[in-house]
Amino acid sequence: MFNKKTVRDIDVKGKRVLVRVDFNVPIKDGKVSDDTRIRAAMPTINYLLEQGASVILFSHLGRPKGGPDPKYSMKPVADYLSGMVKAPVKFSEEAAGPKAKEAAQNLKPGEILVLENTRFYEGETKNDPDLSAQFAELADVFVMDAFGSAHRAHASTEGVARILPAAAGFLMEKEIRYLGQAITDPERPFVAILGGAKISDKIGVIRNLLAKADSILIGGAMANTFFKAQGYPTADSLVEDDVLDLARELLKEGGSKIRLPVDVVIAPNAEEGAETKVMPVGPIPDGWKILDIGPESVENFGKVIKGAKTVVWNGPMGLFEVKQFAEGTFGVARVIAESDATSIVGGGDSAAAIQQSGLADKITHISTGGGASLEMLEGIVLPGVAVLQDK
Ligand code: ADP
Ligand code: MG
Repeated sequence: MFNKKTVRDIDVKGKRVLVRVDFNVPIKDGKVSDDTRIRAAMPTINYLLEQGASVILFSHLGRPKGGPDPKYSMKPVADYLSGMVKAPVKFSEEAAGPKAKEAAQNLKPGEILVLENTRFYEGETKNDPDLSAQFAELADVFVMDAFGSAHRAHASTEGVARILPAAAGFLMEKEIRYLGQAITDPERPFVAILGGAKISDKIGVIRNLLAKADSILIGGAMANTFFKAQGYPTADSLVEDDVLDLARELLKEGGSKIRLPVDVVIAPNAEEGAETKVMPVGPIPDGWKILDIGPESVENFGKVIKGAKTVVWNGPMGLFEVKQFAEGTFGVARVIAESDATSIVGGGDSAAAIQQSGLADKITHISTGGGASLEMLEGIVLPGVAVLQDK
């Protein structure tokens, strides 16, 4: 079902291999403060080194405004990587042009070259063919391993892959295997859990999962909009008033597939230490807001999850960043961790919530791509994947 060439299918010995990684990592005081994304790229990097390739890594970092900005330099990432691998790690202050080319040409098999931020070039986000051609000049083959950027057709993702022979890295392969399998050919029952802030962010995801999943469990602020659509006053809860008709439509389309919370945790404000109450779903008292799903809802959702063979989860069940409103999210995480289902978590905040719950190692696959994982769940073929060579 994953029908693209991977690094295993191409000859890389003695070749210069340009690898698009997702090194868009947080930097604090000039140092990498979370290396999750770097570690996720290591299987591909190590494999290429073992195979005797010279490895050129490039990525975007942050949102510089189309020109060099020291705040977004890749240099700290190169330094960090250098402490992680035995191979020599070099750094090029240019990602394209003569300096980059010279650095690439001087690179020996078994060595790594990290290029400066791709977004220091205006052509990157415009998918400028000239910039793609400059990237392509640096290497013999291209490997796409930046799943988190694969939903964007940029010069360093889609553009360069049109020019060089292009294959997927191991991270890409893994992400697409799990997410793709769940969405096209899931082992059933297939249960989707949706939450987070907004319905409007995720209309495509909800629609696609309504068609594919056997049950959909809805929590988070997203559920508030459904409550209001059903006629309950939601007081100060986060609600999207402009999609109430759509919410009613989705409820009708989904029928008994859709399950909403039966109880909620409310508070007058979202601050740590705020007074909280658990109440059955119904009119929310003035001055209060819904900030989590209640224990009975966790239990109900748990029963459905226990019977599942595939679980896909996007969107926290409540404002999990504040401890008092994290129990719904962590409770659902616990049930998933205990179940035998293949479990897949997508979405930036959802991945963070799972890490915070301490149950990350009990989840089959936690996607490294926020936006990219959502587009996969929508059933969209990512441009950075479509362009890779077929097997
Ligand atoms: P993801 O990044 O996983 O796709 P979203 O960005 O859609 O998830 O939503 C995550 C955010 O939704 C979190 O910051 C969380 O605090 C917020 N959230 C969830 N439930 C509520 C709620 N009831 N009230 C306010 N915010 C909520
Ligand atoms: Mg988010």
